[in-house]
Amino acid sequence: MMEWTKLVRPGISDIEPYVPGLTDDELQKLYGLKRVIKLNANENALGPSPLAIEAIREELSTLHHYPDGGSELLRDAIAKFHGLSAEHVLVGNGSDDIIKLLSETFLESDDEVVVPSPTFSQYSFGAAIMRANVKQVPLHADFSFDVEALADAVTEKTKLIYLCSPNNPTGTILTQEEAEWLLKALPEHVVVVLDLAYNDYSQNDRRVVDSPALFADPRVVLLHTFSKLYGLAGLRVGYALAHPELLAFVNRVREPFNVNRVAQRAAAAALLDEDHRRASRALAAEGKRFYETQCAAVGLFAVPAEGNFILVRTGDGVATANELMKMGVMIRAGFSGLAEWVRISFGTTEENEICMNALIQSTQRQHA
Ligand SMILES: *Cc1c(COP(=O)(O)O)cnc(C)c1O
Repeated sequence: MMEWTKLVRPGISDIEPYVPGLTDDELQKLYGLKRVIKLNANENALGPSPLAIEAIREELSTLHHYPDGGSELLRDAIAKFHGLSAEHVLVGNGSDDIIKLLSETFLESDDEVVVPSPTFSQYSFGAAIMRANVKQVPLHADFSFDVEALADAVTEKTKLIYLCSPNNPTGTILTQEEAEWLLKALPEHVVVVLDLAYNDYSQNDRRVVDSPALFADPRVVLLHTFSKLYGLAGLRVGYALAHPELLAFVNRVREPFNVNRVAQRAAAAALLDEDHRRASRALAAEGKRFYETQCAAVGLFAVPAEGNFILVRTGDGVATANELMKMGVMIRAGFSGLAEWVRISFGTTEENEICMNALIQSTQRQHA
């Protein structure tokens, strides 16, 4: 018998393997469904930008070549979009890749990472692979950020603090004022990762946004992704905006070809598609109005949504998600500390109506 635990790095056996949910195809077969509506991963119901699709087609015949390891074309496009120079931009195989790179760059065993709770699970995953300890700081009861408690959780050992705005899965924002307060309160040795994956969906003028002040702060890393607003989750492209000195270290850890040729071209093209971006935002705004109104009308409590998803209290989240699954609607539940809640991603007008009807049926059954 192999003694795996002697071979495998300490801490690895404690990591819970990521268990992917059923795919829509699997679900369709399992329950003999005609149609499955996928509202469980905050994807863009409009699909990718037509400009991205065209760029992908054009790139296919060059796939015998390695990608540009420096992703120059894409980094230039991103830099231009944000009014920065390309040394401020690092691209990754999704933001997940960048979160792992930041973990590998900064964390050693027994270092500390501070995260609000609940939030996106990849931050803790990155800490776990490096054997760093995660300090979870509960959000306020209304799911707003408890910036004072976050600052209090920081010690000498803290290397990274993650803030996701709008926060996944609660949909609540970090305000500009809170961000400024925190940056003043936090010591110099803490890298502040601000994950803005959903920020372009929010129309709340109090939300924290990319700004010259943030770009100038050497501790700040801003994360963006092409997976949500740009509808390119399947291609895997995310990016970090940060100080060139910080990125120079992250670049030493990065695989040379971490973003593939097709992804580089498609993401650069998507960035130029203002129509697609506007339509994606408008659809999310419609989703927000729809679910907030409908939930209020049937007495379901929902958190005001700032992203392209909404958190709804149904009583038993997992039971609700399972019932909806049988009706062909995939939503998410089972977030730690959120047993009573489900997270619904916004779909098309029709998908949202089907989902809401299924939700009403399911909650009426639960309470019957
Ligand atoms: C979806 C999501 C991302 C994007 O991840 P990718 O790896 O770029 O697909 C990043 N942060 C949060 C909070 C998310 O929910």
